[in-house]
Amino acid sequence: MAREGASLPSPKLEYPLVRPARIAVLGLTVEQESGIHTFSEWNSAVLNKYRPCALAGWLPDLIQAGRLRESGHLAACQLSHPLLVFSTPEQGPLDEDAHSTLWRWFGLPVYEQIRTAEGRLVAVECETRNGFHLAGEDAANHDGPACDCGHGRRWVPAVTGSSVTAATPESGRPLTTAAGD
Ligand SMILES: [Zn+2]
Repeated sequence: MAREGASLPSPKLEYPLVRPARIAVLGLTVEQESGIHTFSEWNSAVLNKYRPCALAGWLPDLIQAGRLRESGHLAACQLSHPLLVFSTPEQGPLDEDAHSTLWRWFGLPVYEQIRTAEGRLVAVECETRNGFHLAGEDAANHDGPACDCGHGRRWVPAVTGSSVTAATPESGRPLTTAAGD
């Protein structure tokens, strides 16, 4: 269901660190800010031309970019800043394999953001890598433990494999296992 031209504003990127000069966002239209360029369709040629310092995007896009990098097709990209990976609540946090594969291809740290399929930010990975912080209105309605980092409430996404238990923070409903029996 394409939502191009919908009245909802584009979500913000929310890069977790000081932003480098050029970030390429793959596959998600985010709010236009200086130094951030959205590529809803992309290939190695357009990325090489833009010369991003950092990449952000859904895992399949970053896997594609990683393969291109490994094969030398992203030679002109001066990637130097952490990758920003988007996952839906159902996809959940990246597993060890995804982390190690991305590391092999890029040699860069990875920060993860949980977003709905439309891109709305649900949670951002804490800089201490010890869980996530809920974002936006979810954070205001959440009374989980304070995060060790001193900012925000700590939230640990549900283990993947069950979309039922994966993140219903906005509803406040108890996480029951309603499906499967
Ligand atoms: Zn934290």
